[in-house]
Amino acid sequence: MNSAHASLKSEITSDVDWRKVRTDFPILELKIDGKPLIYLDNAASSQMPQLVIDRLVRYQTKQHANINRAVHYLSEVATQEYHDARCKLQQFINAREDREVIFTSGTTDSINLVMQGYGRKFIQANDEIILTTLEHHSNIVPWQMLANEKGAKIRVVPINDKGELDVDEYERLFNERTKFVGLIHVSNALGTINPIKRMIDFAHRYDVPVLIDGAQAALHIPIDVQALDCDFYAFSAHKLCGPTGVGILYGKAVLLESMQPYKGGGDMIASVTFEETIYNTIPHKFEAGTPPIAAAIGFGAAIDYLTTIGIENIAAYESTLLDYATKCLTQIPGVNIIGTANEKTAVISFTIDGVHPHDIGTILNQDGIAVRTGHHCAQPVMQRFNVPATSRASFAFYNNKTEVDALIAGIKTVQKVFL
Ligand code: PLP
Repeated sequence: MNSAHASLKSEITSDVDWRKVRTDFPILELKIDGKPLIYLDNAASSQMPQLVIDRLVRYQTKQHANINRAVHYLSEVATQEYHDARCKLQQFINAREDREVIFTSGTTDSINLVMQGYGRKFIQANDEIILTTLEHHSNIVPWQMLANEKGAKIRVVPINDKGELDVDEYERLFNERTKFVGLIHVSNALGTINPIKRMIDFAHRYDVPVLIDGAQAALHIPIDVQALDCDFYAFSAHKLCGPTGVGILYGKAVLLESMQPYKGGGDMIASVTFEETIYNTIPHKFEAGTPPIAAAIGFGAAIDYLTTIGIENIAAYESTLLDYATKCLTQIPGVNIIGTANEKTAVISFTIDGVHPHDIGTILNQDGIAVRTGHHCAQPVMQRFNVPATSRASFAFYNNKTEVDALIAGIKTVQKVFL
């Protein structure tokens, strides 16, 4: 079989015609300085299919009004659509009840909600919070703020040279002062998939709740929060082919009910007097003010789209891309892949001997190739590997092997320019 034929075959796997899927994304038609856009920055933000764009336009042209506050037609439609979007998210992660899904502005906001609502109420001086070396800054900084305020301590799970968590060390960190675990499902910097089920089960032996940062997982791994038995799970729409400005926090109802809201305002109340406010029930208790109605409805459309393709199919297809890209990159002398975990999503962080990552990104951009360079909001990971930054190619299901080939050619150009 010639390589073009082989590549074609791999693009029509599992009953999904991936070449057709790619045409759902109008932005992929763009030319950058006359070169076709090769978008490999999906871990930062994925692209939006036409269907989601159309849904946003339909909402804005035919359905927009504020929700929950009026009996007029448009308000009722918008309220219903917003509620339907919540139910789509509930089904997507298999939450027991729709009220366990809170719309937030994104993963960062979701984690801050848990820190403020759960952490400030239940974590005290000398308590310990377990985080891992792989965390994104958004699952470090809020807990540091809390630890500083309360006099609590942060304990950190180390990683090995492949970028995998030392789970034995994680288990050794537990003691009677352990009160919370914050755990990244998939590392944005390296792609490592963490064994979260085992880690959640272990924390529960100590009655310790676990928050999973699922920002990099939800597009690539089917999520079942009941099977995982996690206490909180957070992700953002813009990493799942949806709009920016919206995300969710899943929380077990019993925990959400026990928490204090950290934003006060309209809609999160049952009644208000100057003497006392009675809070609304969940999820409304945590959605003060006008929520991101349009974005949430767009998020719901993105979930419909992804469900039609199937996250399992996406995972299988992306895994073939990862294998191919890893094989190609490994063959280039002077290129070092950072993060070689056995379980990975399609993220490749790399350095090139003698070339600053920023220069790699700049030269690749001249060929229309979008990768991210920097510390990826994961400075502890960079410190662990003793590098200031990496270049990161992160793939989605609309990428293909031809684009991997272009990346490889681009890297060879970088080496020619600088070495
Ligand atoms: N957590 C991880 C693992 C991420 O990759 C990101 C974004 O890159 C975030 C959290 C923050 O997401 P957002 O900026 O959408 O709040």
